[in-house]
Amino acid sequence: MHHSLPLVWRRIPERYNLIGCKCETCGTPYFPDRKICPKCRRKGKLVKQKMPKTGTLYSFTRVHAAPSGFEHESPYWLGIVELGNGVRILSQIVDSPEEKVVIGASVTMVFRRIYADAEEGIIAYGYKFKTI
Ligand SMILES: [Zn+2]
Repeated sequence: MHHSLPLVWRRIPERYNLIGCKCETCGTPYFPDRKICPKCRRKGKLVKQKMPKTGTLYSFTRVHAAPSGFEHESPYWLGIVELGNGVRILSQIVDSPEEKVVIGASVTMVFRRIYADAEEGIIAYGYKFKTI
């Protein structure tokens, strides 16, 4: 286990396709996937669903002190993206000119290297977002 890998990334098992789920009872989408709809409880019926790959930037922050393994990317943008279906996810914002990184900016998902461990030779890939 990589203790230096930010918890939020380790907890996302479906990072390649943005597969979440949707409650068929109330229509609420969730990402990551979950077992129980907090609104419907036992009446909820959750089915897997692919999340939209575009959305808008809901909020963001510039990270200057990168965690171990991300030093080469410091500083970088970390944002909360609101997808087209209203689901909000935390993601790094990459390949975006500084003037376009604003609240409400249109963003799209890209597939990038998220982590490299030189000692163990492990490279993890996953999603990030960039401004359109
Ligand atoms: Zn529900």
